[in-house]
Amino acid sequence: MNIIRTVASLKKEVRYFQLDNQSIGFVPTMGFLHEGHVTLARKARKENDVVIMSIFVNPLQFGPNEDFERYPRDEARDTALAEEAGVDILFLPSVEEMYPDEPSVTLTVHKRTNALCGLARVGHFDGVATVVMKLFHLTEADRAYFGKKDAQQLAVIHGLVDSLNVPIEIVDVDTVREPDGLAKSSRNVYLLPEEREKAPAIYKALQLVAESIEAGETNIAHLKQKARRVLEEQTGAEIDYMEILSYPELESLDSVSGTIIAAAAVKYKNARLIDNLILPMKGSAPCFAQ
Ligand code: AMP
Repeated sequence: MNIIRTVASLKKEVRYFQLDNQSIGFVPTMGFLHEGHVTLARKARKENDVVIMSIFVNPLQFGPNEDFERYPRDEARDTALAEEAGVDILFLPSVEEMYPDEPSVTLTVHKRTNALCGLARVGHFDGVATVVMKLFHLTEADRAYFGKKDAQQLAVIHGLVDSLNVPIEIVDVDTVREPDGLAKSSRNVYLLPEEREKAPAIYKALQLVAESIEAGETNIAHLKQKARRVLEEQTGAEIDYMEILSYPELESLDSVSGTIIAAAAVKYKNARLIDNLILPMKGSAPCFAQ
C-alpha cells in the first residue's frame, strides 16, 4: 500500500492508473477505521482494479461547537487496517494540503438538508459536498463507496452527482453493526460503559418501526411515538430527533408509502450517535435491505 500525503503525488499516481486503463474505486473516510469502513474497502477491492481510500477530517463540515478537534485519530492503526482491507493508495492529506487558501468557491446543497442532521448541523452538508467533490476530482474514481449508516449524507451525495453530472457511480453499502445491533461508528469509543450497554436500544426503536409497519400500522405519527418511547425509556440518552420521512427526498409523510427512512439521533455525554433503517415497501410491508 502506498501512503500519499500530497495532491501532486496523488494526481501523478491517478494519471498512471488512467493510462493503464485501470478502474478506480474510492472510499472517502474520516479515519479511526472500523468494520464499517473496512466493508466499504473490501467491496471496492472486489469491484475495481485499484482502491483509493482517503482519511481526512474535514474542518468545513464541522460547526464551531462540534467535535473537530476531539474527533478520534489513529494513523498507525488505520494504516494497518486499510492495508489489510486491500487498499492500494491511502491518501492522508493535511488540512493545509486540501485547503491551502480559503476556497474561493464552495458548494451549497439546496435539497435533502432541511431535515434530520441538517437541522442541527447547519452548513454540514455544504462542507461534505465540497470536500467530496474535491476528492472525486482528485481520485478520478469510477466508483465511490458510501455507507447507508449516514443515509442523509448518501442522499446528498446522490443529489450532488445527479445535479452536477459527476461522472462517477455511487455504491450504497449496508450498515455494519455490532452483534447487539449498535451501528459501528468511530464515535462509539466515547461512550461510557453504561451508555454503551444501553445504546443498542437506538436500533431496537428503529426495528420497532419496521415491525409495526409489517403488522399493519401505517400512521407515521403513531410509528414515531412508539419509537420515541423506546428511545426515551431504554437509551438513557437525550433524543435529538426521531423521524420517519420519504427517502431519499427526506420529506414529511402522514402515512407510509414508497421508500421511507426511520432515523434517530441521540446525545450521550461525549458522543452524538445516529442510526437509521431505510425501508423499501413491497406491497404494504417493508422489505429489509440492511
Ligand atoms: P466516516 O469516517 O464516519 O466519515 O465514514 C466514512 C464512510 O464509512 C461513510 O460513507 C460512512 O457512511 C461509512 N460508514 C461509517 N460507519 C459505517 C457502518 N457502521 N456501516 C457501513 N458504513 C459505515
